[in-house]
Amino acid sequence: MAFKTREGYYADLRAMRKNVYKNGHAIEDLVTDPATMRLVENEAYLYDALQDPEFDPILKETSSLTGNEIVRWISLNTEPDKLKKSVEMKRFAFDHVGTCMAGICVGHNIMNVLWSVTYDIDKAKGTEYHKRLEKWIIETESKCYKVAGALTDAKGDRSKSAGQQDNPDASVHIKEIRPDGIVVSGAKVMIAHAAVCQEIFVGTGTGYKEADKDYAVSFVVPRDIEGLTIIQTDASEGREGWDDMKYGDQSSYLIFEDCFIPNERVFMCGEYEFSGSVIDRFVGNYRACIGSCVAGQGDVMTGAAVLMARANGLPMKKFKDKLINMTRISETVWGLGLGSIYAGYMHESGVWFADPTIACVNKIYAAENYAELRRLLQDIGGGIAETGCFPNYKDCMDPVLGPKIMKAISANPEVTPENRARAARLGEWYARAGGLLAFVHGGGSPDGCKLVINRNTPYEKYAQYAADIAGIDQTIKDPQ
Ligand SMILES: Cc1cc2nc3c(=O)[nH]c(=O)nc-3n(C[C@H](O)[C@H](O)[C@H](O)COP(=O)(O)OP(=O)(O)OC[C@H]3O[C@@H](n4cnc5c(N)ncnc54)[C@H](O)[C@@H]3O)c2cc1C
Repeated sequence: MAFKTREGYYADLRAMRKNVYKNGHAIEDLVTDPATMRLVENEAYLYDALQDPEFDPILKETSSLTGNEIVRWISLNTEPDKLKKSVEMKRFAFDHVGTCMAGICVGHNIMNVLWSVTYDIDKAKGTEYHKRLEKWIIETESKCYKVAGALTDAKGDRSKSAGQQDNPDASVHIKEIRPDGIVVSGAKVMIAHAAVCQEIFVGTGTGYKEADKDYAVSFVVPRDIEGLTIIQTDASEGREGWDDMKYGDQSSYLIFEDCFIPNERVFMCGEYEFSGSVIDRFVGNYRACIGSCVAGQGDVMTGAAVLMARANGLPMKKFKDKLINMTRISETVWGLGLGSIYAGYMHESGVWFADPTIACVNKIYAAENYAELRRLLQDIGGGIAETGCFPNYKDCMDPVLGPKIMKAISANPEVTPENRARAARLGEWYARAGGLLAFVHGGGSPDGCKLVINRNTPYEKYAQYAADIAGIDQTIKDPQ
């Protein structure tokens, strides 16, 4: 099979309806507009890598549905090793662009989750969602599309359920069911890279009860579908020269307004009893992947710290403990992610899921320690790598000011001042979270993880172990 190239990807984006907005207007060309070009460059990277056979084991897979060679990010994780490889692919992506490449991640995870949930719904209710999904996967795997994943709703007042909101459009919901499809409205927010993917997979944002059944809806849409407006978040763009990196990260607000979804793209339509399974199964695999995101970003931050130390004129050994700590954080989340995969389970539909408890432990660890990676990078790099401590690219290029600045920042005589400035800008990029925007809420809030851990920990069994060893023959209950 011919794998899509960068040019093919650009052509896909340029052929789409112009429904991505930033700075008050629709973006004419996502590939060249300063607001989105670095985001496109990020997702384009893997289309280049697809052309290099060296990366085939990481990026390609045999389809379990057609037997064709396909991109890994539209494959089903039919065994633990396949899930492990998808996590390795994500670390590879982070290592090369320094930040999130959501087009190979969130949609891929939701697709696998829906593979299992549609199987369960069909089995219980005699619906035909699973066949529809299979057809979509077969059609899409040959196109090498990037697929964003949209679960998070705007939600509105957090103390009320979706159906109790004054604004019913705070979450995506079914407005009308027609013979040939459904009409949906509502807002999905913070959807990573949705603007530069060809397709967007929408899943329910939480588990719903019967009163909120219109919100239990899952479907997949082309990014430019009629009725969808996409507004870009305000992140990493518009800096000149080495003030910015080659690649960017942004997310999108997706506003669905009376958007028609044909039946063949609808995979859940009011089956609220199964909406909790979407979230439950999503969290395991996704939070296992978080290990690869933090580890990949940690690799680049560690590399940036090494470059800064040297550019400043100091050998690595001066920072040995700090560098080891950076590796310790990266490899801990990586190892927890891998561990959760191999402690996982096979669903009857034939896809593998990571153990949710270990995956949620990983997510909390990642959320708490990601900032420490950044702190260590800044510690080693010095003030020049923190925010607001170095003149901008324009002044560095100015014929009068530039030479004065370059003279002032000369340090290690073996390293040009420009290269010291570039390394510092990478450090600053991470300091101002220009790499991945954040790891606290991405993949779900730490409190949500704690709920899963609390639910899955067999405290009574552990209390019994303790009682047996201590020789306690009384059942000690929680005080009322
Ligand atoms: C960098 C980044 C990338 C992202 N990418 C994606 C993506 O690609 N796709 C996607 O679907 N989503 C994405 N998200 C969204 C992410 O999943 C959400 O931010 C996360 O689920 C938390 O939701 P929220 O932001 O609405 O926070 P909230 O739900 O408002 O939570 C804020 C705090 O309030 C607490 N809280 C909320 N409700 C209650 C309650 N009823 N009672 C008590 N406490 C409560 C939470 O535990 C948390 O501590 C991304 C987020 C980030 C930061």
